[in-house]
Amino acid sequence: MKVVIDAAACDGKGYCKRFAPEVFALDEWGYGRVLVDEVTPEAEANTRAAVEACPLQAIRTV
Ligand code: SF4
Repeated sequence: MKVVIDAAACDGKGYCKRFAPEVFALDEWGYGRVLVDEVTPEAEANTRAAVEACPLQAIRTV
């Protein structure tokens, strides 16, 4: 599973990092970014929780 953040939609609430810190970080301006090319099976549940938690629906799995 891959995951992408729509930079135009993200407003830096930081839920993604809170739910899946192994997959997401916040950049110097507080916007979410993806740390990994591929989400490991172990990180999938946290990643899906982050997708659900993002209030802007800015995270998409591909
Ligand atoms: S939770 Fe959504 S809006 Fe917040 S930083 Fe992450 S991607 Fe951006």
